[in-house]
Formats: sequence, structure tokens, C-alpha cells
Amino acid sequence: MLQVEEAQARVLAEVVAVPVEEVPFAEAHGRVLREDVAATHDLPPADNSAMDGYAVRAEDIAGAPVRLRVSGDIPAGHPASHALEPGTAMRIMTGAFMPDGADTVVQVELTDGGTDVVTINKALARGAHLRRRGEDMRTGDVILRAGARIGPAELAVLAAVQKTTVSVARRPAVAILSTGDELIDIDGVLAPGKIVNTNAPLLAALVRDAGAIPRNLGIVRDTREATIAALQSALDSDFVLTSGGVSVGAFDFVKEALEAVGAETKFWRVAMKPGKPVVLSRHRDCLIFGLPGNPVSCFVSFHLFVRPALRKSLGETEALLPSAVSLRLAAPLRSLGDRRVYVRVHVAARDGELVATPLTSQGSGSLTSMVGANGLAIVEQGVTNVAAGEHAPVLLL
Ligand code: AMP
Ligand code: MG
Repeated sequence: MLQVEEAQARVLAEVVAVPVEEVPFAEAHGRVLREDVAATHDLPPADNSAMDGYAVRAEDIAGAPVRLRVSGDIPAGHPASHALEPGTAMRIMTGAFMPDGADTVVQVELTDGGTDVVTINKALARGAHLRRRGEDMRTGDVILRAGARIGPAELAVLAAVQKTTVSVARRPAVAILSTGDELIDIDGVLAPGKIVNTNAPLLAALVRDAGAIPRNLGIVRDTREATIAALQSALDSDFVLTSGGVSVGAFDFVKEALEAVGAETKFWRVAMKPGKPVVLSRHRDCLIFGLPGNPVSCFVSFHLFVRPALRKSLGETEALLPSAVSLRLAAPLRSLGDRRVYVRVHVAARDGELVATPLTSQGSGSLTSMVGANGLAIVEQGVTNVAAGEHAPVLLL
């Protein structure tokens, strides 16, 4: 059976980046940048004061305490009306550009705060409390690289260089098909044998969090014809996620339907628990993931395979796969040892370090075991028990 790493490599090898679109700055938050952005001007644009205080020449305050005449005020946003004369001071506010002739700022706390004449109580080194022109960014410097996800800090940087429109990845469309005769919609009747379709909202939210657009195509009945028709209606999406119907049950039609619509299967079954019967298939430009029906299997296989694919398609380049860190366990981990197991854990800081607490019920059908799961602890094949207090690799979600 295929190992997880090999399956992930095959998934990523199938993914190409979606096209770029231009969006107004106001819509750029959360998108993936698809152009390198260079500074259009120096920032700060000129030497300016890092403090509220007095602009002086360092040599004039070397013998502090000294008294200097105050020749004017420089508020932020208003360039000085005149150059600083030797032996004088000007009151200056944080962010105000330095007047010609001044080389140092004395913070107001080191003075008597005088407005006509100021007493400066302490000598400072030349250049004290200045922010230098270009210290943050210089004209032409690449300040953001293609592939960056645009968060608050990136937005601030884009605003600084007056990027009113931004080239970002088009959001991939991800169709979601939920197979199963037992499924009803959230407002359906819970007749005997029926359960609510929980995979569709689960997957839709995971897709949205990854930066793509979910298209919920609804519940698909467990017949060959219905599965083929549903798949056909989904193939104009960038990705299709099916849930259920990929195992060896008598009414599992996803693999057959994939063949019938002319999709090419890249793999079926990965050596992992939960989530073994996952399928990867391609139809022209559309990549299809057949995810297992068990909600937890869906969740785990989404994080291991689908999310990395969506991120690559958006043009992200760094750490596409979830990264593993070694964390102390608050409770033991158990496995049958036959396959690698991914255990839902809650990772939280405790006594100055991150600790992973396995969530109680670990059955692959347990919806509640996903609540609060922000990590997947790995128990390797052949290992049956990891004691509380020991370390285990944990994928951070
Ligand atoms: P399957 O892979 O189709 O055999 O489904 C495996 C298990 O997952 C069964 O118990 C199904 O009832 C359950 N299941 C399948 N699809 C969904 C869904 N969309 N929402 C909740 N549970 C599901
Ligand atoms: Mg089924």
C-alpha cells in the first residue's frame, strides 16, 4: 500500500497553479499574492524623529545640562519652516521629519519641556532617536514575494507602497459531492436509518479556510447512474471532493463512476488510519479526491492531501504539507500497530511548553472527537503504545 509521503508527493505533482486575477486592495485580505512587490519609495521617506522631544546638534548638548533657545515647533506631517541654527533647538514630535542642520533628538523626558528656552539635562550620542530614511524599505527592494498569503501585516506593507490593485490567485472552485443513501440535509427528517450530511459542511469550511470556494453539489444516491451524473456535473470545477462510496462496500460506486466519466485514477488506498480508502483521480484539468465517508477520515485526509493541493494551486510555496513538531503527550497514545495512525489532539501551552492532549473518543465516525482538534499526533506503524509524558510527532493544523 502507498505510504502517506508518497501519496502526498503524487498529489502535489498533479497540481498546477490557478490563473491570476487583479483585485482592489480592499479585497486582498486572505488572498495569495501572485506578484513580487517592490518598494516604490524609501520608507521612512526622510530621517525623522522616533520621540517627542527636541531636534538638536549632538555637539551643542555635549556639555549638558545646557540651555538652548527654541526656534520653533515641528509637528508630524509638517516639514520644518527653517533649518536648525547651531546652538538652538526645535521642538519636534514623533514621526516629524528632521530639520536640516539637526542630527539628534532629545526626548522630552530629558528636558524641562521649555517652549522658548529649553534645558537639556543629558548629552546623547549623535543620531540618537532618529529613524533613518529607507531604514524600513528602500526603493526597488522586493518587500513581498509571490506566494505570500495576504494577512494584516502584508496589507500594511501593500498600503505603504500604495498598491491599490493586487495580483492574486483566482480562488479555486471546489465541488463537494456527498454520497450515501443514508444522508439527509440539515433540515431533513431523521427517519430510521438516516443521518445528517455532516461531511458537506465540514469540507466546505475546510475549503473556505484554505482560500478556495466550495460548491456544495448536494447528496448523491448510492447508484452507479446517480454517482456518474453527479461527477459529470462537477467536472468543470478545479477540484472535486467526494465523500463516501470509495471503500469495498456493495454500494460504493465512486471508483466505478470515475472510470465511467473517463477520469484517470492516480492512487487508491494509503497506509494510514483513519482514511485508508482515499482516491486521487484526474479528469483533464480537474483533480478529484475521493475521500472516505467517515467524518474523521474526511477531516484527516483533507489535511494530509487536499489542503496542500489547494495551497499549491493558489501559488503558495512554503511548507505546503502540515509540519510536524515533537510535543509532550498529556495522555498515552495507542494503536494496533498495523498502520500509521493519526490521532486527533488538542495542542495548548502548559507550564511554558506546548502539550498535546489526545481527544477522548478516537473512533473514525466520532464528530465530537474533531471539536478542538488542532493537531494530529502520529503513531508509526509497528508502535502500539506511547506513554503519557513522552514526546510524539504532531502535525499542527
Ligand atoms: P462509506 O465510506 O460510504 O462506506 O461511509 C462510511 C461511513 O461514513 C458510514 O457510516 C456513513 O454513514 C458515513 N458517512 C458517509 N458520508 C457521510 C456524510 N456526508 N456525513 C456524515 N457521515 C457520512
Ligand atoms: Mg456510503
